[in-house]
Parts: sequence; structure tokens; C-alpha cells
Amino acid sequence: MTQNIQLNRHSQQKFFDSFKTRDVDFRIEQLKQLKSAVSAYEEKIYQALWKDLHKSQFEAFVTEVGIVQKEIALHIRKLKRWSRPERVSTNQLIHFWSTSRIRREPYGLALIIAPWNYPFLLTVGPLIGAISAGNCTALKPSEFAPHTAEVISTMMNEFFPASYISVYQGGVEVGSELLTEKWDYIFFTGSKQVGRIVMEAASRNLTPVTLELGGKNPCIVDEDANLKRAAARIAWGKLVNAGQTCIAPDYLFVHKQVKSEFLKLLEKYIRKYYGDPAKESIDYGRIISASKTERLGDFLKGMTTYYGGDMNFSERYLSPTILTDVNPDDPVMKEEIFGPIFPVLEFESLPEVIAFVNAREKPLGLYYFSKDRQKQDRVLAQTSSGGASINDVIVQFASESMPFGGVGSSGMGSYHGKFSFDTFSHRRSVLKKVNWIDIPLRYPPYRKLGLVRWLFDIW
Ligand code: NAD
Repeated sequence: MTQNIQLNRHSQQKFFDSFKTRDVDFRIEQLKQLKSAVSAYEEKIYQALWKDLHKSQFEAFVTEVGIVQKEIALHIRKLKRWSRPERVSTNQLIHFWSTSRIRREPYGLALIIAPWNYPFLLTVGPLIGAISAGNCTALKPSEFAPHTAEVISTMMNEFFPASYISVYQGGVEVGSELLTEKWDYIFFTGSKQVGRIVMEAASRNLTPVTLELGGKNPCIVDEDANLKRAAARIAWGKLVNAGQTCIAPDYLFVHKQVKSEFLKLLEKYIRKYYGDPAKESIDYGRIISASKTERLGDFLKGMTTYYGGDMNFSERYLSPTILTDVNPDDPVMKEEIFGPIFPVLEFESLPEVIAFVNAREKPLGLYYFSKDRQKQDRVLAQTSSGGASINDVIVQFASESMPFGGVGSSGMGSYHGKFSFDTFSHRRSVLKKVNWIDIPLRYPPYRKLGLVRWLFDIW
């Protein structure tokens, strides 16, 4: 593999140095090529997602393939405008008759490392930004979703030369090998633990990184919330992809006054969406591996199960499960759950919940349900998270006009829509001067400090 990586890297460098990818028309052509590739492989992608995660075609389209198709279309439509050098103001007092522009330029060779939970979206989604910004790309899909990784690899090999886009299948060893090479940009989606390894490796070459990580996303249901809507949306957002979503509500904080009513509604919606047992539903996903199912099973040990708790390791199945009497010291509250478990805590005052959230690492998403605008503003003003939704969950992800990314331990950098193009572009500031005039004030021997001070004041 090492030799393969080095050979491809070498040919990608050669290709990048030919300046072909600097041409915006070339990039648009490649985006169109990607669009054709996704169309040609759409059925195979659905089949692979079914095998890897028991993902229904509806969910696969809405949460993966459809988003990718929409994003490609947006980049095709907007790339010409985004990539035009942006004219900005110039201080005409010192730079008389000059112009200033910000040019968005490709970094060069980009490495994209992806996780298994949305294995198509999170591999091909960032690639769209890398292509539109004019980079050559190495893709490393996750080994835990092998069917999807195989389809991505076959699709890319058919539609793109490896000197432009190369795909490396494999696990930790392959990821580690890729990180020993020098890249011009690294875009990583995955766990905090591996995020640290990626950042450390990147630091050796001073390579810029985007880290899309995870965390425990709080979901707060206040006493004045529309409980029906809250239960309907939380049950949906938590159970999409069987809870294996980085922005899924991780734990619920429900006001004491409304807890019992809310729990009844939550159960009602879970049954409505997936029936009981959920195992029979074609819309209910599976855990990615038996060992990860066991890990989730461990969270249930010794806990009070309000609803669900059925498991089958060999089928990678865990039913939607609501836990009550949860203590902040319970294992389920110690790490990101990443599965269909709803630990429910209760609260009496909002400051108490805000303090709880702020005492922990900054989450990727935060959700608050309340009709009161002032309380909504207060929660937003007094907490921090990568993104947030008020009176809904996970939907902030789907907007191409908002950057998607974490803060603190949930990640750094962001993407989606134009933000993807910006992420994979270096902003180069260029000032163009004229020669027919040269104000001598800056040259030694230095005199006239008073005049310079005055100029600084009036700029
Ligand atoms: P992971 O960190 O275990 O693996 C991610 C990728 O890194 C895989 O391709 C894996 O092969 C590779 N990898 C593993 N060890 C490596 C190493 N030592 N060197 C180089 N590469 C290595 O994460 P995962 O289990 O696939 O995904 C789950 C995590 O991802 C969760 O924490 C979740 O919150 C997070 N996530 C975040 C987002 C987001 O957009 N912020 C989206 C999805 C998942």
C-alpha cells in the first residue's frame, strides 16, 4: 500500500502542477462528472447502505445521496461566481491608484478521511468542496462500512483518474500510512481520539486541517415547550440511522413538570414510526458492528429502562430505548452514545441546565424546546456549540447557507455550500500597484513621524 500511496501522490502532484485544476471550467466539468457518477451508481449506493447499516432507500436518499446531489448542483451553479477574485477596498492614501483582491486558490493535494455512519455523504460531500476549490484528492472511506467503501472506490476509479482522485480502502493501518505523507490540506470526520492523531500528524508538515468530530449533544425540553412537536421531532432525529448521527440529540433534559407527559408522547411517536418491535420495520437501521452493539448494551446495564432495551448482537440490533433515573455519573452520560438510547434527566430551573452543559465539553449540536423567545435567546447566549436548533433537532445540518462544524472538542473548521469551497481554498491577498507614482514617505532615512501619525489617524 505504501508504494501505491506514494505513486498516486506523486502523479497527483504532477497533475496539480500542470495547473489544469486552476481552470474553473475544468472544475465544473469534474463536478458534472461526479454528478454523472452518482447517478450511474445510485442503485448500488442504496444497496451498499442497506447492507452496511440497514438504511432504507428513503433515508439513504434524504440523508446522503440527495444531499450530495443537491450540493453538486449548487457548486456547478455558483462556482464561477465564488471563484472570481473578490475586490476589496484599498487605502488610497498610501496605495494610490492600486487595487486589492482576494483570490481563492487551491491548496494542492487534499486528504479526506471519512467515518462509517453516513459513509457516502461524509466521503463524497467534502470531495465536492475539494473539487470546486481546484484540489487533487485522496479519499479514505471507513472500513466499517465496507460495501459503501467498495462502491465509492469502483465509482471513482471508473469516472476519475487516480492522478486526480484516488481512493484508499482499509482501516487504521491505511489511515496511518496516509498520514505519514505530506498533504496540503486534511479534512477529517470521525472521533475525537483519531482527530488528535490527525492533527498531530498534520502539525509535522504544518498542514491545515478541518476536524469534524462528535460529542454529547444536549437536548433540553422546557416546561412551556410544545410537547407533541418536541416528542415527534426528537424521536425522529434521535432514531434516524439508529442514533448513529454525530448531531443526534445525545441526552435529554426534560423539565420536571412535563416529564411524564413528554415520556408518554416520546414512546407514542417511537411506536408510530417503527412499530413494536422496531426490528420488523424496514425503516429502522442497524448498528454498524456486533462489537459496537455490545458497547451500547453495556450502557443499559443496571439502568432503569422506561421503554425498549431489546437487543440481538448477531443481528446488530438494539431497539429504541428510553432510560430514566439517569445519573450524570452513569457510563451512558460519560461518552458519546452514538446509538438509539435516550437517557432522560430532569431539571427544575434553566440556569441549572445551562451550568450542566457549560461544565462539559462544547457539543457539536445543542437543542432547546420552548415557546419563550427570551429563554431561547438566553440558552443561545449562555452556551456554546458547533450548531443549534430551536424547537427542532439535527435540521441545522441540512442548510447549505450555514456552515456546519464543531467548536472546541467537537471540531474545528466547517463546510457545506460555499463554506466547502472556502474551506478547501487558500485566500490569497494580492495588492497590485502602479509604477507611475511612488510616495516616498515609507523609505529611510525616516523623517516626518508627525505626518505619518496623522495619516494613521485619518485612515
Ligand atoms: P473513527 O475516528 O474511528 O474513524 C474515522 C476514520 O479515521 C476512519 O476512516 C478510520 O479508518 C480512520 N482512522 C482510524 N484510526 C486512524 C489512525 N490512527 N490514523 C488515521 N486514520 C485513522 O470514527 P468513526 O467511528 O468512523 O466515526 C464515529 C465518530 O465520528 C463519532 O465520534 C461521530 O460523532 C463522529 N462524526 C462526526 C461527524 C461530523 O460531521 N462532525 C460526522 C459523522 C461522525
